[in-house]
Amino acid sequence: MPTYKAPVEDVLFLLNDVFHIERYNNLSGFAEASPDVIEAILGEAAKFCEEILTPLNRTGDEEGCRRHDDASVTTPKGFKQAYQQLVDGGWVGISAPAEFGGQGLPSFMTEVVSEFLSSANMAFAMYPSLTQGAMAAIYAHGSPELKATYLPPLVAGKWTGTMNLTEAHCGTDLGQLRTKAAPQGDGSYRITGTKIFISAGEHDLAENIVHLVLARIEGAPQGVKGISLFVVPKLLPNPDGSLGKRNGVSCGSIEEKMGIHGNSTCVMNYEDATGWLLGEANRGLNAMFTMMNGARLGVGMQGLAQSEVAYQNAVAYAKERLQGRSLSGTKFPDKPADPIIVHPDIRRVLLSIRAFNEAARALIMWTALQHDVADRAEEEKARQAADDHMGLLTPVIKGVLTDTGFANTVMAQQVYGGHGYIAETGMEQFVRDARIAMIYEGANGIQALDLVGRKLGKDGGRAVMAFFNEVQAFLKEHSGDEAMKPYVAPLGEALGHLQQATMWFMQNAVSNPDHAGAGATDYMHLFGLVVLGYMWCRMVAAARHRLAAGADGAAQRLSAKVVTGRFFMERMLPETAAQLARIRSGAASTMELPAEAF
Ligand SMILES: Cc1cc2nc3c(=O)[nH]c(=O)nc-3n(C[C@H](O)[C@H](O)[C@H](O)COP(=O)(O)OP(=O)(O)OC[C@H]3O[C@@H](n4cnc5c(N)ncnc54)[C@H](O)[C@@H]3O)c2cc1C
Repeated sequence: MPTYKAPVEDVLFLLNDVFHIERYNNLSGFAEASPDVIEAILGEAAKFCEEILTPLNRTGDEEGCRRHDDASVTTPKGFKQAYQQLVDGGWVGISAPAEFGGQGLPSFMTEVVSEFLSSANMAFAMYPSLTQGAMAAIYAHGSPELKATYLPPLVAGKWTGTMNLTEAHCGTDLGQLRTKAAPQGDGSYRITGTKIFISAGEHDLAENIVHLVLARIEGAPQGVKGISLFVVPKLLPNPDGSLGKRNGVSCGSIEEKMGIHGNSTCVMNYEDATGWLLGEANRGLNAMFTMMNGARLGVGMQGLAQSEVAYQNAVAYAKERLQGRSLSGTKFPDKPADPIIVHPDIRRVLLSIRAFNEAARALIMWTALQHDVADRAEEEKARQAADDHMGLLTPVIKGVLTDTGFANTVMAQQVYGGHGYIAETGMEQFVRDARIAMIYEGANGIQALDLVGRKLGKDGGRAVMAFFNEVQAFLKEHSGDEAMKPYVAPLGEALGHLQQATMWFMQNAVSNPDHAGAGATDYMHLFGLVVLGYMWCRMVAAARHRLAAGADGAAQRLSAKVVTGRFFMERMLPETAAQLARIRSGAASTMELPAEAF
């Protein structure tokens, strides 16, 4: 049975030594997040995830969710009690505004806890994370009445949220959406249509479910410019806040699927269901994007989370499994064979996963802090810069962390040899669970197109130029430091590749957009390696600083950072040269064959 230990120390290193959390104390909620509060919260979250959620991961996968004849859905055994503990602990609303019952703590706290939850039990973690997305959309776009009715129970976790975009004939291309909304003259709408693949669409964890549903108001324009967003509760709330009659929404079936069996993936039928407009009419995608952007970061986190738990188990196995002898001479003569961790190829696998995980965690933390700046800073300029950062890096985090996260679960499975393919070890579940993160919340090919087609050129390239400038400033600052040379030199080269690729798109993709389409995924991964390389440089600089100051019993951990960072620079970052070459080859060979030749 797999185990999990939440990486609390690594998170504290990032907060204290790399990102200097005290520098954010001018933002609301940060003063309350004092070091002892953060440590206490992370400790509690770790305990809940390690002791309660981790054992439920395997049983939840085996049992799955069940739909009954009355269209109700039950989650696997133990989920309900665990969910109640989550609610009792106030975890859903830790970063939500106090006026709606939240704790008002910075949103990076929610991100950290989400990683722990998702490593321990990804299927379970999706219930609160979708709720947090719904809360964000209602908070940003809801009328005072909608906020007053829906936010307090969502923040408390008494109600959960969903996002309903997908229909059978329309996934990526939401312009084809058919679900209808008919105005009732009293401010409400009647919603009719069928949505598919709706995560957490029906379940037994909470007393009510709040569906955020994309639909087209009668007479609205075709395409994406005619889509609106609606709040459609399962049970209609009475004016006094109590729960009233059942709305016209029900679960038609649940999908049999590859992984995340503990999360119900539902076909949702809306038959004259009562809903209320969220945000402006025909601007529904804009409102839904508030939920989707948060969700995309959350899905990127799922890639890291599965990679982390798979890594931890692979390391434990590699230390135990005795096969063969070390190439450089027997290391454990008293044993019948050496543990496989002595083999360079096993180490290559483990270090590749670890070097990704630690940098990906830093990237998420950096972006979560930018999220707090974007939401809470007083200065318009600071908010705008943070918003630019989020917009640029959201597709990178979603696409790169889930592609690589999935690949890492496969590599970790490989460490187990044949035993990794057997259900009992739990490694194949990580592979199956991680796979969906590459697909939902905008398949990764679409993330790459979003980065290249929308984010690079937005506001005259302001966001990408700010990113280049920041990395260049770091490189310059450390250029005279001999010990940092093995880090800053490769990062400088990789940044050059990214800049050349960006320039190549500017010069070639306008005349032939297929050049951008054919190179987009390579570009997204090239961007990912550069930003992860930048995270490594910052982590190594911070670790070396601490080591020079005495390290306080953390010397082994900090020295491991310095070595893992070097592995990243020597063994992973050089891929950027190949990515640049692929991008520069353009679209010709990709597009030449006619469809019938395939
Ligand atoms: C388990 C699960 C849970 C889900 N949860 C939810 C949920 O809670 N709410 C919800 O609304 N949806 C949910 N989805 C739906 C999911 O978001 C969609 O499956 C996804 O957006 C892709 O849509 P699609 O499946 O129709 O694929 P399609 O849109 O048909 O795409 C097929 C392939 O073509 C590519 N493609 C499409 N258009 C283009 C283009 N213009 N350029 C280049 N490539 C393109 C895509 O990248 C993809 O690889 C879930 C799906 C699953 C399987």
